[in-house]
Formats: sequence, C-alpha cells, structure tokens
Amino acid sequence: MSFQNPVFIPGPTNMPEALRKACDMPTLDHRSPLFGDILQPALQGVKKILKTEVAEVFVFPSTGTGGWETVITNTLSPGDRILAARNGMFSHRWIDMCQRHGLKVDVVETPWGAGLPADRYEEILTADKNHEIKAVLATHNETATGVKSNIAAVRRALNAANHPALLLVDGVSSIASMDFRMDEWGVDAAVTGSQKGFMLPAGLAIVAMSPKAQAAIETAKLPRTFFDVRDMMKAYASNAYPYTPAVGLLNGLKQSCDMLLGEGLENVFTRHHRIAEGVRAAVRAWGLDLCAKSPDVYSDTVSAIRTPEGFNATDIVTHAAGKYGVAFGVGLGEVAGKVFRIGHLGSLTDVMTLSGLATAEMVMADLGLDIKLGSGVAAAQEYYRNEGAIASKEAA
Ligand SMILES: *Cc1c(COP(=O)(O)O)cnc(C)c1O
Repeated sequence: MSFQNPVFIPGPTNMPEALRKACDMPTLDHRSPLFGDILQPALQGVKKILKTEVAEVFVFPSTGTGGWETVITNTLSPGDRILAARNGMFSHRWIDMCQRHGLKVDVVETPWGAGLPADRYEEILTADKNHEIKAVLATHNETATGVKSNIAAVRRALNAANHPALLLVDGVSSIASMDFRMDEWGVDAAVTGSQKGFMLPAGLAIVAMSPKAQAAIETAKLPRTFFDVRDMMKAYASNAYPYTPAVGLLNGLKQSCDMLLGEGLENVFTRHHRIAEGVRAAVRAWGLDLCAKSPDVYSDTVSAIRTPEGFNATDIVTHAAGKYGVAFGVGLGEVAGKVFRIGHLGSLTDVMTLSGLATAEMVMADLGLDIKLGSGVAAAQEYYRNEGAIASKEAA
C-alpha cells in the first residue's frame, strides 16, 4: 500500500508536513514555564476559530467522543431530560451516550439525509412549560450522511420558545472547516477533536463552554473525574494540567490555529466550499445522488454518495484501498452498504481532490458501474477552472 496518496475519509484528515513536525517534539517538562507558551496560544487560537469572546476552551487528551462526555457530565444530572434529533450515526452515538449516562432523551427521529428539525424543536420546547428539558443536542455536520444543519435556527427555536435549555453542539466535522459562530449562535458548548478540521493526529478533545454552561457545572451531578472541567480550570490558571498533557499535540494545535488563521478563516471556508462544489459536480456527472436531500443541507466537508440499488457501496471502499491505495469512507448504520463517502476537509486542494475523483471513477468502472471515465473529473475541472481556483499554498 502506498502512503503517498491523500486520504478521502472525513477524519483523520491529511496532515500538513508542518503540523506533523510541530507534534514531533523532544520531551518537555509540562510543569515548566515553556508549557504555558504552548497552551495559551493554542487555547486563544481555538477561541478565534470558534468565533467566541466569552467561552472558555478546554482541551483533553481524548477524542471527539470524550468531548461529548465532557460536555454532558459537566452540565447535566442523572434523570435530566434532553432533546435531540437522530439523523445519522454520530447524532445516534451521542444520544446513546446520554442514555447510558442515565439521561432521558426525547429523540426526534429524522430521516437520514435531512437536517435537524428546528421547527420540531421549537414545538417541543414550547410545550415544555415547566422547563424540564435541560439541554438540546445539535450535530452541526452529520458526518455519516454529509448533512449540515442550521445551528442559528436551533438557537432561534430556543429563543422563540423562551426556553432556558443549554444548546450543546457537536462540531467535530465542521469546526475549522465550515463557518462556526459560537457567540452569535448562542452555543453553550461546542465539541471537536484534533483529527478533522485541525489536520492533526487523533488525540485531543477540544471543548468550549459559554458562561451559562460554566455556571451549570456547579449544579451538574453526573459523575466525572478525568473530564472534570473544574480541575482543568484550576490547573489552567497556572498554565498546568490536572495530569500529563499531550504536549506534542497541543503544540500541533497551536501551529494549526496559526496556519488556519494565517490562511484566513473565511478563505478556509471558501476553499472547503469550492472543493465540495467540485465533488458535487462530479457526483451529478456520474448520475448518482447524494444522501443529503437538498442543497441547503449539503456539507462542505463530506459527501455521502448513494450507489445504485443492489450494489454494495462498501465494495468501492475495499477496492479503492486494495487496488489503488486510496481511502474513502464506508456507509455507517442505516446507510451501510448504500453510500460511500468522500471526505473533503482539512489539508486539501482542488488538485488533490481531482485525484480522489479520478480514483473513484476507476473503482466504480472496475466494479461494473455505468461510469464514464473522466466524466466526474471533467465536471469538477470545469468548476475549479471557472470558480477562481487559487493555488492554496497554506493548505498543501
Ligand atoms: C468523528 C466524529 C465524532 C467522533 O469523534 P472521535 O474523535 O472519533 O471520537 C463525533 N461527531 C462527529 C460529527 C464526527 O464526525
């Protein structure tokens, strides 16, 4: 297997050389002042990427899943009612975690391929006169289906119902790749990990909490130790950790923020949108459909592509890896075998994307699908040529 090819999975994403080097550090005493020079810029960088002035950022040695646990155990108590929609594998897993923690989840079953139903949220919240619902979960970008949801609309639903529940958002596959406005959207807790938009190895859970979420920490009764934000806050006050920090990854995070902010956040989002539009042009040229039902929910970080009835989409992923050394994402849960996914986030350019599309065409042709070689690539090329393609140096 060749390790020269970019991956096209929606995390872990391709790592820029500069970030790999930033993570590769000699041993550093995390109780020395040197550590603060890594920690503080990393925390400040994340705040800028989240567009928040008021939230505090906490970074745990963990992954996005640990970020979910951090958020719920620090803000909620056993038996609390929470509201969540299930529209894919990741929203499902977060709901499952809540249930296993003894929370009562009002689950709004939502078609896989649709966005979060903000209008249903509003009805349920409005009916909850006694404010029994303590939190609303929202997965900003459902990585299993390639569906982006409107977090501002979820906030409007809470406001319209005049409801005080916390708004807890999974931004694992959106943050640092798609626009995320923590303060403007009134997000109380945001969760991500290091291995998606931040282009780093897996190993960090990145969490931000609004002042309202921080206030909830004092009354929350779910058990927590490793993920107790109070311990982290206390340690941060003296540039330390309650245990051994992942220093190399934190140094990578600091550099990643510099890289993203250096490119310019709006440029990062535009690049992701342009790359995604090229992929979507290719999918149309192949005569295939996206799992995402309508353009307003198309994700700019991952496309889940439906394959014809009777065809096992997972074969595409297996064959691409075996014959061409290229990784695509399999379908998960309800859409397993029905879709394959092209991840297009992180360190990626138009030209890298074309190689993935060309590979997908070879694979589909090998497997007997009615795909004309070059058709999707040509559609994407036309789009990239005409949509002001930029030689994105920082992204490479
Ligand atoms: C990847 C992902 C997760 C899980 O993150 P891990 O880092 O694998 O624990 C959660 N939510 C979404 C939307 C994701 O894409």
